[in-house]
Parts: sequence; structure tokens; C-alpha cells
Amino acid sequence: MNASPADTVLVVGAGIMGAGIAQIAAQAGHPVFLFDARAGAASEARGKLRETLSGLAAKGKLSTSDVEETISRIEPITSLQAASTARLVVEAIVERLDAKRALFRELEDVVATDAVLATNTSSISVTAIANGLRHPGRVVGMHFFNPVPLMRLVEVVSGLQTDAAVAEAVFELARTWRKVPVHAKSTPGFIVNRIARPFYAETLALLQEQAADPETVDRCLTGAGFRMGACELMDLIGHDTNFSVTQSVYEANFFDKRFVPSLVQRELVDGGLLGRKSGRGFYAYPRTLTPAPSAPPAPLVKPKFVTLHGSGSDADRLFGLVERALAGGDARLAREARSGWTGLEADGARLVLTDGRPAFEIARDAPTPDVAVFDLPLVWDAISGPPVLAYAVHVSSSTGWKAQVPAWLAAFGFDGVAVADTPGLVVARTVAMLINEAADAVQQGVCNRDGANVAMKLGVNYPAGPFDWLDAWGARNVASVIRELDVAYRGERYRLSPWLRCRAATSRQGAQA
Ligand code: NAD
Repeated sequence: MNASPADTVLVVGAGIMGAGIAQIAAQAGHPVFLFDARAGAASEARGKLRETLSGLAAKGKLSTSDVEETISRIEPITSLQAASTARLVVEAIVERLDAKRALFRELEDVVATDAVLATNTSSISVTAIANGLRHPGRVVGMHFFNPVPLMRLVEVVSGLQTDAAVAEAVFELARTWRKVPVHAKSTPGFIVNRIARPFYAETLALLQEQAADPETVDRCLTGAGFRMGACELMDLIGHDTNFSVTQSVYEANFFDKRFVPSLVQRELVDGGLLGRKSGRGFYAYPRTLTPAPSAPPAPLVKPKFVTLHGSGSDADRLFGLVERALAGGDARLAREARSGWTGLEADGARLVLTDGRPAFEIARDAPTPDVAVFDLPLVWDAISGPPVLAYAVHVSSSTGWKAQVPAWLAAFGFDGVAVADTPGLVVARTVAMLINEAADAVQQGVCNRDGANVAMKLGVNYPAGPFDWLDAWGARNVASVIRELDVAYRGERYRLSPWLRCRAATSRQGAQA
């Protein structure tokens, strides 16, 4: 199949996804047949689309002729037989294997033998959908994201029998539809729905052990550049939908404990607290915005002796900030690059950039109980106020040190928020696990590094891709956080990816950390 706007596209299923796919195919110039098993659904979808596009035309975002041309290219049909000229079928029907298989079997008798059969499934194996067809090589996944006209990512999913040329043709076609395609192997959750699991799971784990409340976790995640915190995002997606994706990835992986769903979320689902759509999830809706600002920290008490420990860009940056904080005083500032930890020592008290160890663990080897850890700062520069950053103080620390920790973080430009003394705090733990999942996906050939980066940035709006974070943070540091999580929780969830383990070992021998 060569991608040409002259090729007729058949979209089956005129629901939320099918209508969007029909729209973008028509806008790219294709004649589009639209079919739905429910009588009248295809015409209704076209009518709704006309309204939406006319609204955009009224705002000057489209011309009236664009609207008419697009609509005129979409032809609702009442029988699949009418679509025999289709060169590409995109299926967006109910998410059931039997229904999708039956549809493609029927279509084999309708369209030409070299027409491509694409499925928009978000969770079913493309290999399984192709099973039993006469020409399984032409079945491919074309996984769009909702809302289709706005979301740029398309996962082009190859099953075991998908012809490489078919996947390539669909990839190129998606580009002509102004999408950004990435190749994926048919495995549970494909790329985005798999790699994103820890974003929700780590937050749910923190909530379960009462390490922080939803608002605090969300503030830390948005402080790290995520557009939404995991709690508000789950409320938006709907806990029923989010829980069912997690469950399907868990089941499809033969109940690998790594993907085990959360009791916290199941309770919300069982209670009908589904998020925005039901009026309550983690938050009540309509939500009262503007969370109360944190109380200002105590003034910084300038110590006599300060040592900045560690090497690398975070340590360098911290050194500059400490210098600035101590300017004009008579404190003596030293640098110790070979300590094995990054952070500050102020008259013996330690403020340590998390390496996964809780503060109580670090305090065991420290000469003082005045020990605190702070989270991985992904955003250093204030955009609208100081970025929120989690910290935890060792329980036996002095009252004075407990008050000085947020003061130091404020001096570094952060709004410190206290959380429980838990491994990897909020952001480091979440990002490390996202990287770990992405590393497994790459090792298992689900996607390549670029594919994972693009997919996570465009599919779920992450501020950076997992391998961007890995490059900036270093494999040793990521592996250290995951190992500490594994030590603390002892379970399959925190199994270090062999790919990452190898990278961490290699970087110890002098390669980029
Ligand atoms: P939807 O319920 O809005 O629409 C499905 C449509 O398919 C309905 O109009 C229904 O009448 C029709 N239909 C059902 N069985 C049919 C059949 N055998 N033949 C023809 N038409 C049939 O669902 P949706 O949200 O648009 O999802 C469609 C597909 O896209 C599913 O596979 C889903 O997993 C996938 N998907 C959904 C999203 C999302 O966010 N909604 C995102 C990515 C992928």
C-alpha cells in the first residue's frame, strides 16, 4: 500500500475514536466510508462533526470551504459491502477480541486482498486479532489517542505476522495525517499504557502507606514539570478506566506482581468514586482551586562550616546556590567531590539528595541524627513561584534541623514540602520506575529509545522522555533508587531492568553515569 490521499479509507465504529479518525483522514484528503453497527450512528457522527468544524470556522480557525470539503468526503454507509474500494480499514469498534476478529473476517470478503486492516485497539493483541485470517500479514495496530484530532501520537503496532512493509506504509500514512507515529511491538499496553503504569502505581503506593496526601503528591509531580499530578490525572481519566487498564496489563502479563493494581484505587472504583465524572475521586468536584500556599520556612541560620558533597551537574549547581546563600557571612565553604553522596553538610547536619535511601538509613552511618533527604529536582528554575520539592527529615533529628531543612531548600529556590521518610520520596521514585519500565520495553523490543521518548511526551504529555531523564540523571543513580525501593518493599515491583543494570555497571567503569 502506498499512502495516497486518493485511497479510500473505511472507518468501522463511529464512536468517540472512529469519528475522530474519520475526521483526520478526510482532512488529509481521503474519501472516507464510515460504518457503525448501530443504525444511524455514522450519520449522527458526521452531523456532530459538521457542528464542531462549523464552530471552528466561526472562530476563524477553518474556512467554510474546508468544512464542506471535509464533510463531503465522509460517507456514512449502512452496509460494509458498500466499502469494497477501501484501501485501508481502521477499526474502532467495541474493545472485544471476538468482535474484532469477526469484523476482519467479514471484511476479508469485502475489500481487496492487498488492502490494509488496521485496528485502533488499546489493549488487545494485534497478533490475536489477525489469527484465523487468510492474510494476517496485513493486520496492523494504528493506536490513536483521545481526542484524535488533537493528540499527535500514533502507535503503529506490529503483531507476530504483520508484514514489515504494511507497518511501514501505515507509519508513513500517519505522517501524512499530521501525526507522529512510533513503531511498537504487540505486547500488553504497547508503549504508552505500559510505561505509564508506574506514574499511577507509585503515587497509589505512597497514598496507601500514607506517606503523603493526594494534594502533596500532585504538587510534587507538577513541581517536577508534569502537567498534572497523578491524582488529578486519575480523577480526570476516571478510576474505572484507569483501574481497568492496569488490570488488563497485569492479567496480560500473567499476573506479574510488577503491575499489580492498587487496593486504594479498587476501593474508589467499588465505591463509585470515579473522579470528575462522578463528582468525587481523590478530590471533590467542582474543585476549589488555589491550594493554600505553604507557610514560609524559618529564616536560614548561617552555619560556621559548610561542605558541599558530590560531583556532577546537580552538585555543581548546589555549590553555586550554597555560595550565594552564604554570601556576606563568615561561614567557611568547602567542596568534597568524592563522598559518594550529593548534598550539603552544615555544621555536621546533612541534607542529602535522595539516592533511594530513607533518611533513617543514612543516619545509621552518619555522625549525627540531623539528617534529611530531598527529592530529585527536575525543575530548578521558578516559572510561577518556586518549584515544589519533597523532603523527609530523620525522625530523631533535632527540632532546629527540622526547621532548617525547608529553609535550606528555600535558599536553593524550592518550596519544600515534608513527606514521610520513604525510599525515593515522590519524584525520584516515580521517574526511576518510569525509566525502568521503558528500559524493559526497549530490551524486549517493544520500541526503541526514541520511540519511548516520543510516545511518552506526546501520548501522555510528559515533560521529557524516560531516556532523556536517564541521560540527565545517570543509570547508576536510577539503579540506586530502584535497588533501595526493592530493599524496602521486597517484591517484584522493584525488579531492576537487566538493561538498566548493565548500563549502571558500565557507567561505573567510566562511561557516562
Ligand atoms: P465507543 O463506544 O465510543 O464507540 C464504539 C462504536 O463501535 C460504537 O458506536 C458502537 O456502536 C460501534 N460498534 C460496536 N461493535 C461494532 C461492530 N461489530 N461493528 C461496527 N460497529 C460496532 O468506543 P471508543 O472509545 O471510540 O473505542 C473504540 C476503540 O478504540 C476500542 O477498541 C478502544 O479500546 C479504542 N481506543 C479508545 C480510546 C479512548 O480513549 N476512548 C483510546 C484509544 C483507543
